[in-house]
Amino acid sequence: MKILASRQFPGPAWDELEDVDYYHGPLAGPRPDIEALAVVGEAIDDRTLELFPNLRLVANYGVGYDGIDVAACAARGVAVTNTPGVLDAATADLTLALILATRRRVVEGDAFVRSGRWGTDWASTTLLAQEVTGATLGIVGLGRIGMAVARRARGFDMRLLYTKRERLSEAEERELGVEYRLLDDLLREADIVTIHVPLTSETELHLDERRLGLLSDGACFVNTARGAIVDEEALARELVAGRIRAGLDVFTDEPGVPPELLELPNVVLTPHLGSATRETREAMTRVLVGNLQAAEAGRTLPNPVYPS
Ligand code: NAP
Repeated sequence: MKILASRQFPGPAWDELEDVDYYHGPLAGPRPDIEALAVVGEAIDDRTLELFPNLRLVANYGVGYDGIDVAACAARGVAVTNTPGVLDAATADLTLALILATRRRVVEGDAFVRSGRWGTDWASTTLLAQEVTGATLGIVGLGRIGMAVARRARGFDMRLLYTKRERLSEAEERELGVEYRLLDDLLREADIVTIHVPLTSETELHLDERRLGLLSDGACFVNTARGAIVDEEALARELVAGRIRAGLDVFTDEPGVPPELLELPNVVLTPHLGSATRETREAMTRVLVGNLQAAEAGRTLPNPVYPS
């Protein structure tokens, strides 16, 4: 099975594949020889699929597959797979890192030290921050990563609110120590809000100007899911006004970042690092390769995704 990949993926599993071509820049064709694409973040739409008349699989490196038109793939009999599960811990860890860095003003403190200002004496309020331990955390999307965040947050004695379309059973809520809220109520009540829903037609701009306005003054907003779930301009306005704080790993038009955010002390920015540890990226390659090998052997695909 000939595979066309957008890059060489990290880790030893990648070398198990025998017949791989690479492309740089936009996908060009026609390529009737290609039966599988290995991609990450690249847009795969109906026009792209037209270039690959014998395609059987689009294998995505990552759990979020919002760049792929899954319905168009299904209409052409092309399967789509992703790499869920193996990146939950790394993404949840980064979420906690952003919560801690944002609430405790870690990056501001770092800048103070580097510029020789120091900035705090015991009576100074300059770098006084907001407590993390005991805060109320609102988790928007309690799936694999949201749950991993909840487990970590319990170590900080946080009160945990969550929202999703299908509410958990009372027994599950009790066991996880989480309380259900409608999204708007969660936004009003939480000290910290963290986003873990996928980007879909339903969740695009889900956090719009009105909803961001529901966040309490001084709230901390963290996004390690997808930038386009949030109205980024409205978020930037709230941050420029200094009403809230934010820790952001994802942006609407990556690698673009709203320029007004770059100078703000109340925002911590990372370049889509959620799954970016060596161990996790290699594990993702293992899962990606597993899907490609299953397609080649005609076996059931381990991680298929379907049109929603
Ligand atoms: P998941 O297990 O599918 O969980 C998604 C959660 O969102 C579920 O609880 C789901 O519950 C909820 N949800 C879906 N649509 C919703 C809606 N319209 N309203 C409210 N809740 C909704 O996904 P995951 O593996 O945790 O990954 C979540 C996302 O994180 C991925 O899609 C990806 O975009 C992002 N991610 C980013 C990075 C990074 O590097 N920053 C790394 C990994 C993942 P219901 O179905 O009950 O609504």
